[in-house]
Amino acid sequence: MSNNLIIAIDGPAGSGKSTTAKLLAQKLGFLYIDTGAMYRAITFLALRHSIIGNSDKIIKLAEKCEIQVGFVNGETKIIVNGEDLTGKIRSLEVNKNVSNVSKIEGLRKILIKKQREMGKKGVGVVMEGRDITTVVFPDADVKIYLTAFIDERAKRRAKEFLDTGTAISINEIKKNLEQRDIIDSSRETSPLKKADDALEVDTSNVTIDEQVNIILNEVKKAADEKGIKLNINN
Ligand code: C5P
Repeated sequence: MSNNLIIAIDGPAGSGKSTTAKLLAQKLGFLYIDTGAMYRAITFLALRHSIIGNSDKIIKLAEKCEIQVGFVNGETKIIVNGEDLTGKIRSLEVNKNVSNVSKIEGLRKILIKKQREMGKKGVGVVMEGRDITTVVFPDADVKIYLTAFIDERAKRRAKEFLDTGTAISINEIKKNLEQRDIIDSSRETSPLKKADDALEVDTSNVTIDEQVNIILNEVKKAADEKGIKLNINN
């Protein structure tokens, strides 16, 4: 067992994982790792090289990628082979292709290895994705599965797009979320599912503060059990 705390959060797109994980990491002074950004970056590069649909080439591409994921000024920053891809990974084009790229087993092996290495750094880490509680860190100290009704999730994503100056219909977003959910939860390798021992938190009708506090309480219990003293920022 590691001597840092690993908080693993999974759930479908738009369930509130990023918002919750970021706030939690800030409060705890932990590292925040958005694993979706890694799959998105590889998808962006696969689109750039026109190799979507060619698993072997995508795996070869990923093998050559030096990926750095960080958290700067409230957003996930992702740099691949020295190039900042932060502003490029959340496009509609990436949204449409990312779940099919993420199905590739050889690619997952590469990214999971990297995620495990990153999780062991620092005093603690909050890592979010689709298979963090089940595959990447099945022995995480705190395991959370976030859910929310599809309409609420689509509304949140539409607002995120609007905040960046792009107006997209809720229906189009809803269709993309539903398609991604189906592919992500039915794939053979590390599908999205709730781990038996994960705490399920439905975020449809709770505030962000409430969401964060529910998880924070779990973190406090885990820290007590390990004899780790937390310094919680307000
Ligand atoms: O979290 P986000 O919506 O940015 O993730 C984008 C996509 O990356 C997901 O729909 C999924 O296909 C893939 N993903 C994954 N495993 C993870 C994180 C993300 O397969 N741990």
